[in-house]
Amino acid sequence: MNDQTNRQSPVRLEPMPEDWQRALAVVAHPDDLEYGCSAAVAAWTDAGRDVAYVLATRGEAGIDTLAPDVCGPLREREQRASAAVVGVGVVEFLDHRDGVIEYGLGLRRDIAAAIRRHRPELVITLNHRDTWGGVAWNTPDHVAVGRATLDAAADAGNRWIFPELVEQGLEPWNGVRWVAVAGSAAPTHAVDATPGLERAVRSLLEHRTYIEALTDQEPEEYCRAFLTGNAQAAAERFGGRPAVTFEVFSR
Ligand SMILES: [Zn+2]
Repeated sequence: MNDQTNRQSPVRLEPMPEDWQRALAVVAHPDDLEYGCSAAVAAWTDAGRDVAYVLATRGEAGIDTLAPDVCGPLREREQRASAAVVGVGVVEFLDHRDGVIEYGLGLRRDIAAAIRRHRPELVITLNHRDTWGGVAWNTPDHVAVGRATLDAAADAGNRWIFPELVEQGLEPWNGVRWVAVAGSAAPTHAVDATPGLERAVRSLLEHRTYIEALTDQEPEEYCRAFLTGNAQAAAERFGGRPAVTFEVFSR
């Protein structure tokens, strides 16, 4: 049995839990959240909730024509601008190497430390499975960070796992109630995408250097088509409303 053995995804997606105040999103690269779920983030910050972003890398290996030492700072700037569009002011980087993130204790420890610093009730990450719905192969960075984030939600609450974090003053945080995986092929929950969709488009568009290197399509048209298409594809399972979907693991 491998990890493509998803749970059965329900015919009707449930609304995401609303009784929380702080969320932490942990992903591998600049743009992962903008492709995945920033319309939901916009709705959450509109409602007065705090959302912070932690990225394992600066995406420095993401653009063929730019060397990593040039690309990393540029993509960091684009990520900060992109987060600001949806009301997120805190963006941190763990400085793992783009493209070669290793799943393991070091990554789990860094993410557990971030969870202890931010003390979220909701943790967000990106598809941790081998493929995107069995259609396209996922990247090893997404798999590593997604899995390590699911693991670190528990690590963060245990004093005896990574005791060096306690020595650094990071007390255990056992308050993560849900880990929600964006971009899952087996979603269980959804957020109405409509209120945040326009900002999600502008947020993705802030990754302009990356997008211009990726596609010949006009950047805004590309961003709008991608995000609108995904949101509309989810609508039939969410009462006809365009939606951002998540696979939620309760804790
Ligand atoms: Zn990525």
